[in-house]
Amino acid sequence: MPPGLSAGRDGAFTFESPPAAGHDLAVAGGTGGAWRPGVRGIRALPPPRRWSVIARVRTACLWGLEAFPVDCEVDVGPGLPGFVLVGLPDASVREVRDRVWPALRNTGLHPPDRKVTVNLAPAGRRKEGASADLAVALGALAATEQVPLARLAHAAAFGEVALDGTVRDVRGTLGLAEAVCRAGARALLCAAGSAPEAALVRDLAVHPVERLEDAVRWLRGEDLPRASPAPADPAEAEAPDLADVRGQVVARRALEITAAGAHHLLLVGPPGAGKSMLAERLPGLLPPLDERESLDVTRLHSAAGLRAPGLGLLRRRPFRAPHHSLSRAGLIGGGNPPRPGELSLAHHGVLFLDELAQYPRHLLDALREPLETGAVWLARAGVSVRWPARALVIAAMNPCPCGWLGHPRRGCRCTPAQHSAFAARVSGPVLDRLDLQIEVPALTGEELDRTLPGETSAAVRSRLLAARERQRARGVLNSALPPARLREECALGAAARKLTRDAVDRGGFSARGIARALRVARTIADLAGEAAVSETALAEALQYRAYEARRSGAA
Ligand SMILES: [Zn+2]
Repeated sequence: MPPGLSAGRDGAFTFESPPAAGHDLAVAGGTGGAWRPGVRGIRALPPPRRWSVIARVRTACLWGLEAFPVDCEVDVGPGLPGFVLVGLPDASVREVRDRVWPALRNTGLHPPDRKVTVNLAPAGRRKEGASADLAVALGALAATEQVPLARLAHAAAFGEVALDGTVRDVRGTLGLAEAVCRAGARALLCAAGSAPEAALVRDLAVHPVERLEDAVRWLRGEDLPRASPAPADPAEAEAPDLADVRGQVVARRALEITAAGAHHLLLVGPPGAGKSMLAERLPGLLPPLDERESLDVTRLHSAAGLRAPGLGLLRRRPFRAPHHSLSRAGLIGGGNPPRPGELSLAHHGVLFLDELAQYPRHLLDALREPLETGAVWLARAGVSVRWPARALVIAAMNPCPCGWLGHPRRGCRCTPAQHSAFAARVSGPVLDRLDLQIEVPALTGEELDRTLPGETSAAVRSRLLAARERQRARGVLNSALPPARLREECALGAAARKLTRDAVDRGGFSARGIARALRVARTIADLAGEAAVSETALAEALQYRAYEARRSGAA
């Protein structure tokens, strides 16, 4: 600490030594804002009681999806009235003074009339949004000794400040509250609307503030009510049920396997066969989000601005169904400040890619790495971000350009050249990552009439949860079984081993295709409650890759 500087008990830093003569007068005014010494009519401010006062208020900021703790340091010192903001603010942060100073005036408080320097530390991290407004306001009040800082020593504050002194909700409240808690805060002042969301952080006493005055009253020693956490969203609200799907025994079975082992799924079939209907029922089959997943998804959706502030934890798995005309940034994420793509928004949930063949090839290829690693890495303008992207992909496509290949009544009119051009639209590596590839035939009127309603989602889910429990005991979902453990967890008998050899030699399977089929076979065995992967389970798994094998055989 520099000589003469001492830390007060209230967290404010003050210079004890009096200012040197000649420096204790701040001069303001003059025509046109220019300062000219000796001009008549300039107003000399009373000498500051202290040379310089620094107030430090804990807050948090966002950059993209990421919330991080920020120390807001406000220094009010001698010099021309002015305002300097440092710490890599973006445009919305830079406007803080234009919001906060009028708000202080309109609340009956005094904005500092000396030189103000605000530092948002860490200075090296970019910041966006208006979450630091409240901290800047409280820092300015403390540095001008209008409020004591004692209570802020273990507290934090964030929120946007309106011109009339109202404190507004900010995007990403959950993440911001976690960030200040990580930084050691035990109490938090934030907008009343988002307080129930902030209160989801257990170790934080959250005090809602409607207006700036509330925060001032609290700092002056009055008590504010403590917000209680928002109730969680109902888990099973209105999810479409699998019982609505008629027939489609194979597709239903594939959906169950997909949900049980978190394998990616491709549905190929003519328009109207019910591909979208099947896909929409996948989130309802998956088990509800557990505590940690729920926090991850809620934080992410809150930071992306997809949820109204103040809501509780999300329990339902997200289902994202983007249109194929979206951009790369829309799918993977990007921009400045970086915004998450649909893949990250589907984290812990389902990403449905309808009309897969209509997606530009570069877009699908961009999915390959995130699907493998479960994360998106973006490097933009010197800042790299990593977002979670562990989504279950379910894709659907027509069997041919006209859509009617294999339809019982309508004939396909495509030429062989059109067929091969169509097949080439989805690259091999992308197809390879879709573990189950199912043909969904169109049903005839008679078939529709004959079939009884299928099992309900609840019945399927009870089987599926048992299979998930077996995977939990192994510590990893089957779709994520590392190659090193594949041999151990999917030990094959002689007959099953012969089956894999035949699949490679005659079925056109690659080594990677076999490995993926093995993981699916593990899930089939788990659904059946079998310890070992039987020949039957493996045969079923191999059959689900027949589309790709046939395509590569035809190519
Ligand atoms: Zn066709």
